[in-house]
Amino acid sequence: MASLLKSPEEFSLVVICPLEVEALAVIAQLDQDKEFGEHSIVVTSLPPGRQGHSSAAVAAQQTVAKFPRLTCVLLVGIAGGVPSDKNDIRLGDVVVSFPCGKYGGVVQYDFGKDEQQFEHNGHTNSVPQQLLVYLRAVQINHRRSHHNKPKYLKYLDDQISKGLIRKPDVDTDRLFPASYAHQGGPDCTTCDETQAQRREAREDPRIHYGLIASGNRVMKNAEMGDKPNKAHGGIVLAYEMEAAGLMNFTPCLVIRGISDYADSHKPPGDEWHAHAATATAAYAREFIEKVPVEKFASMPNIADQS
Ligand SMILES: [Zn+2]
Repeated sequence: MASLLKSPEEFSLVVICPLEVEALAVIAQLDQDKEFGEHSIVVTSLPPGRQGHSSAAVAAQQTVAKFPRLTCVLLVGIAGGVPSDKNDIRLGDVVVSFPCGKYGGVVQYDFGKDEQQFEHNGHTNSVPQQLLVYLRAVQINHRRSHHNKPKYLKYLDDQISKGLIRKPDVDTDRLFPASYAHQGGPDCTTCDETQAQRREAREDPRIHYGLIASGNRVMKNAEMGDKPNKAHGGIVLAYEMEAAGLMNFTPCLVIRGISDYADSHKPPGDEWHAHAATATAAYAREFIEKVPVEKFASMPNIADQS
């Protein structure tokens, strides 16, 4: 999906999206901004039905082989959120991997066949050190912009106003306790609404920085998800399935939109997925815009290190 107007040696940044819908959300953002002509970005997705650590690592290896001057990998897609008293994570929010404590931003875990035993496989490479200053700059801008809408929200609103995605009904963002399982069916219409936690209404998606847990299977059971989270001091913000595979290959930045709560419940239709993918792509755009073009080019070549 790379532009063929440039030679492969001119590309320094690759955005890897596990799913096509996520890649399309990123491309839609790139298409909006002529500034990106300065940045040379490869966008790629994984083969259909081939999500997971090894597929992500293979995609990165193949892309690096085709584009020998790549210096930076962004992993952009959706994930299951882990709300807590400390982190008010909602559907559509964005989680960004960021070093915290002894962790570099991503931890790997694996569940055994019976799904009861899980193994903490240690933490992985960190977010590239050279990018941390730009992440901080975006974070500080958001904290200061009380009166001005952050750029990622403007980019998201733009996609909604063009009718490219719909803003999902916030009433369908229901967080059930870990002990209350999904009652069956394609959505939560048969689940007991009174079980859902009461949360203050919130209009716009927020960005959360911290630890992402990357596992070998989809986290669809909140009680199961509690285990890796507790093992890491309760600071896991989201669960996904690709970051550890990539991080073990090369340091990368992981940006994930929350499309469910890593439990058995099912937010209705594809609306939250599309919304989360677009919010994530909008944040990725804001971040990339913050990084000077020459910065990516000056970072060490991935091909030389792997
Ligand atoms: Zn449900």
